Amino acid sequence: MEHLIFVCPSTGRAVDSGVESEIGTLLRIRQQSVRVLCPACGGWHQWAVRDAFLAKAAGDLQGADRHIA
Ligand SMILES: [Zn+2]
Repeated sequence: MEHLIFVCPSTGRAVDSGVESEIGTLLRIRQQSVRVLCPACGGWHQWAVRDAFLAKAAGDLQGADRHIA
């Protein structure tokens, strides 16, 4: 499973959205968006799936450089 990683617009930090999905599913839903309670700033953000970065695990944020768009 892939984790969706987004960049918090308030803090600039990479955030694990907690959303996990198979890559095939992500490619199908990339036109959609997800609403996530941000662990970095505590606010809600809505991000387009196509803007997500992918990581295999939460501890993998440093390597989250693969963009699906
Ligand atoms: Zn945030």
